[in-house]
Amino acid sequence: MEKILILGSGLAGYSLAREIRAVDESIELQMITADAGDFYSKPMLSNGLAQGKQSQDLVNAMAESMSDKLKMRIDTNCRVTAIDTERQQVITDRGEHRYTSLVLALGAKPIIPVMRGDAEQHRVTVNSLYDYHRFRQLLPQSPAHVAIIGPGLIGCEFANDLLSQGYQVSLIGPDPHPISTLLPAITGKALQQAMTEAGTHWHLQQTAAIMDQLAQGYRLTLTDASIIDCDLVLSAVGLLPEMQLATEAGLGTARGIVTDRMLRTSNERIYALGDCAEIAGFNLPYVMPIMNAARALAKTLTGEPTEVVYPAMPVVIKTPLHPIVIAPPQRGAAGDWQNHQDQQGTECLFHDPEGQLSGFVLSGKYVERKQSLTKQLPHLLPATG
Ligand SMILES: Cc1cc2nc3c(=O)[nH]c(=O)nc-3n(C[C@H](O)[C@H](O)[C@H](O)COP(=O)(O)OP(=O)(O)OC[C@H]3O[C@@H](n4cnc5c(N)ncnc54)[C@H](O)[C@@H]3O)c2cc1C
Repeated sequence: MEKILILGSGLAGYSLAREIRAVDESIELQMITADAGDFYSKPMLSNGLAQGKQSQDLVNAMAESMSDKLKMRIDTNCRVTAIDTERQQVITDRGEHRYTSLVLALGAKPIIPVMRGDAEQHRVTVNSLYDYHRFRQLLPQSPAHVAIIGPGLIGCEFANDLLSQGYQVSLIGPDPHPISTLLPAITGKALQQAMTEAGTHWHLQQTAAIMDQLAQGYRLTLTDASIIDCDLVLSAVGLLPEMQLATEAGLGTARGIVTDRMLRTSNERIYALGDCAEIAGFNLPYVMPIMNAARALAKTLTGEPTEVVYPAMPVVIKTPLHPIVIAPPQRGAAGDWQNHQDQQGTECLFHDPEGQLSGFVLSGKYVERKQSLTKQLPHLLPATG
């Protein structure tokens, strides 16, 4: 009997289950997840404060209702500890489960920066609904001071969200400007200025070395010996694809669990998608790639082998103080940036040597150009044949 077993109940796992049910009502489906299995929108974790959302408000559907709707058994709060590829079974902390096709939708885990001090365990990361619940419990009433380690995309989104509710925010990191891995300097600096005007304290080009407990709150000592006293420390230094199960099962891994365009790993019965996967050379931890991958994989798993196609998929950065949208060029792509800045914001366009637009970063008023510019971008992964 065919049985598709999905590991993980995030956007990747649930999108796949939905797409499968859209084309096949009867194939046996099971999901196993280490968390409570409730379906929620992860992007809302970093703008939930401005929207007045507690963790329970972010739940779109509880696990039981998803199970009914998708006619799928869901084992919640159940951790998979190993994959036995020979017997086609997964081993969990509550028994074993067989599969004929196994899908890894295991997400990514926060990178924990190395720090010293008697309170370094108290820093908070937010990458799940449960984390958000804990963050909201620990967050003192505004006004209070939150130090965010990591001035990247997620760190800046949380900073903007906290500022909107009257919190004092300090952002710390080695970068020369915010979101430096994705933004050209002029856009990063435009964001920095808008956030400075809203009250952000920047501690760039240095890291937090020590976190100590105070009678009330915490003290961070930075690498340049400056000191930040605050009420909460949020760590947002990036995510690492969850690859341990795959590695231990002997599957190929690199910047994620390696798959081909059919989402197939180095084992022909095992597939991967979402934040944990590196699909045809791309590890894209965003919503749109997951939706495209889920649609293709659902067809493959129900008898119509289908390669994933990635159109250009711009990402909106949720910093309303200075709105930004990015469509980065492929890593290592040849070409040049043409950058423009005025009172309205910044417009940075990346052209390849033939003059074809192949990436952009827009900010401020220029985000309005997102749609017209996206139409000019080539597919990231075009259809073959
Ligand atoms: C704060 C924040 C804001 C974001 N904002 C945006 C945005 O605005 N736009 C955008 O495009 N993207 C955004 N993203 C990224 C996007 O949300 C993610 O790419 C997406 O949600 C990842 O889904 P996933 O299913 O791959 O992983 P996850 O949601 O992490 O799900 C992984 C699942 O695997 C389970 N699991 C892990 N290990 C095991 C195990 N051993 N056994 C059983 N189960 C296991 C977990 O319990 C979980 O259910 C944001 C991300 C964050 C953190």
